[in-house]
Parts: sequence; structure tokens; C-alpha cells
Amino acid sequence: ASKGGGRGQFRFYSSDLHNEAERRKQIEDDLRDALASDQMHVVYQPIVDATTNKVVSLEALARWEHPELGEIAPSIFIPIAEEASLIGQLGDWVLKQACADAAEWPGGVKISVNVSAAQFGNLGFPTLVAQALAHSGLSPDRLELELTESVFLGDKSSTEDMFNALKMLGVRLALDDFGTGYSSLSYLQHAPFDKIKIDQSFITDVTQPGSRNAAIISAIVSLAKALKMDTTAEGIEAHDELKAMRRLGVSQIQGFIYASAVPVDEVSENLLSGDWVIEPDGPSRYRPD
Ligand code: C2E
Ligand code: MG
Ligand code: MG
Ligand code: MG
Repeated sequence: ASKGGGRGQFRFYSSDLHNEAERRKQIEDDLRDALASDQMHVVYQPIVDATTNKVVSLEALARWEHPELGEIAPSIFIPIAEEASLIGQLGDWVLKQACADAAEWPGGVKISVNVSAAQFGNLGFPTLVAQALAHSGLSPDRLELELTESVFLGDKSSTEDMFNALKMLGVRLALDDFGTGYSSLSYLQHAPFDKIKIDQSFITDVTQPGSRNAAIISAIVSLAKALKMDTTAEGIEAHDELKAMRRLGVSQIQGFIYASAVPVDEVSENLLSGDWVIEPDGPSRYRPD
């Protein structure tokens, strides 16, 4: 087993896997087994109210501990799962696991689950969501589905039908990685999003005077407010970034300054101790209110 230099990184572990195609093929084959065994798990990262430091939601993030390769990052295995038509199975597993875990958590804390365009394009998807809710007993308004702009590349009328079906279930919808895709404001005009997640790439240089990214974030925040949507800034790592986000009126913060994703045991222990509040870079990660 070999882990790369950084957390969640991947590198070659065997000299016979000398080409990219073979490597991908192996990951694809192993992914089928991983889903059937217990190599996959879900970790949870807090999304925090920018003014109160209360945890409003936890984002479910898939993790894969490969028996030989060590941890493989989602940025590697999610695209492979998408191409190999395994994302439906993987995504459904994450959804059910996340809803089951969240149903055990007290209070109104929400669970945010990533949904690939391929899942969204499956006519049976709303049924799978309904099943995950029914099996777990989780209230629909505590489930937030994170979609990216790629869902709009599909057929226009089926996209609209899908949005209607999901809203009928009573779940919340967030537009993830906003600004990185083929951003078109017409998406926001028609789609019933409750939240816009501002991609980490817009955080760079946001503390500099005359920052173009700060201007962009400010515009996104105004737009979201006018459309009655929340905003989450992704990937906030430093205090000056946090301050800038508060000043720009971003409503929620997600990033290592509060916490990285943690295993479910750690979530439950801390959540069960009361209303969940965490301080940026605090000595203890979670503090009951
Ligand atoms: P995402 O949905 O935008 O998730 C946020 C990513 O940003 C996570 O990476 C998280 O660990 C990382 N992050 C959070 N705060 C910080 C920070 O302060 N600094 C930095 N550098 N990174 C931060 P992760 O877990 O590696 O996931 C990467 C992407 O893989 C996700 O991006 C999402 O698109 C995808 N993904 C993960 N799990 C799933 C899943 O179950 N289903 C689907 N369809 N996609 C998933
Ligand atoms: Mg996400
Ligand atoms: Mg994101
Ligand atoms: Mg992102």
C-alpha cells in the first residue's frame, strides 16, 4: 500500500501499472468490488452559519480506502465511476448511508449529499430519494441535494420534470461549485435552488484590495439574496478569508478553518452534546451552545 505525499492523494504504487489507461481500468474494476465490500465509507464536513457559528448542515463526502493503494481521492474515483456507469450505485449507497446517519442526529441539522448529473438524468432518481427518506425516517426538509451546472446539459423538459419531482418530495436543492461550469443566469431563473455554493476558486485573492473575486462574490450574494437563496462559501481556510466572506454577506461557511470532514462517530458524539457550534480554529472542534 502506498499513499501519496498529501492527504487523499494518489500515486503509482506498482511498476507494472505503467500507463494511465491500465491504472484507470484497475480502479474501475476495484471500484465494483469496493462497493460490494466495506472499503467505502462516508465522512461529514460541517457547513457553518457565518454569523452564529452554528452548524446548519453536514456535507456527506465519499471515501475509499483501497486495500493496496490506500486512500483514493474522490477527484480520482468519482469521474471513473461516472464513466463506468457505477455512479448510480455509488451515489445511491452514499445517499442511503447519509440519510440513515443523519436520522440519528438531533435538532434540525441538515445533510447535504452530492448528486452527479448521471444520477439526476435517471428517471428513477426521485424514487430512490423517496426510498432513502422512507427507510431512514429522515424529514425531507433536512435533506439537501447538491447538484452542479452539468445537470443542465441534459434534455430541457426532463430536467424540468426532475426538478419538479424533487421539489414535490420536499427536499432542498443546492447549486454546487457555482461559477466553474457553463454558468448561465437562466439556470437560476428557472431552477428551484435553495442555495448557491460559491466555488473555492473564487476565494483566491479575496483579501487583496480591489480583488476581482470579491466583486464577483458580492454580485453572487446580491443575486442569491434577491432570489431568496442562501450562499455557502467553499474552501475557507484562513481567518482573513472568513472575515472577507462575512463582510461580503455570505450566509454560510465551509472549510478547513472550521473542520475538515470527520467520521460519523465523531459527528454523533459531538452533536449529541447539544446544539452544535464550532469556532474557527478553536481549540476544540465542537462546542455545545
Ligand atoms: P465538493 O462537492 O465541492 O466538496 C467539497 C470538497 O472540498 C471536498 O473534497 C472537501 O473535502 C473539500 N474542502 C472543504 N473545505 C476545504 C478547504 O478549506 N480547503 C480545501 N483545499 N478543500 C476543502 P473531497 O471530499 O475530496 O471531494 C471532492 C469532490 O468529489 C466533491 O466536491 C464532489 O464533487 C465529489 N464527491 C465527493 N463525494 C461524492 C459523492 O458521494 N457523490 C458525488 N457525486 N460526488 C462526490
Ligand atoms: Mg458538494
Ligand atoms: Mg462544491
Ligand atoms: Mg468544490
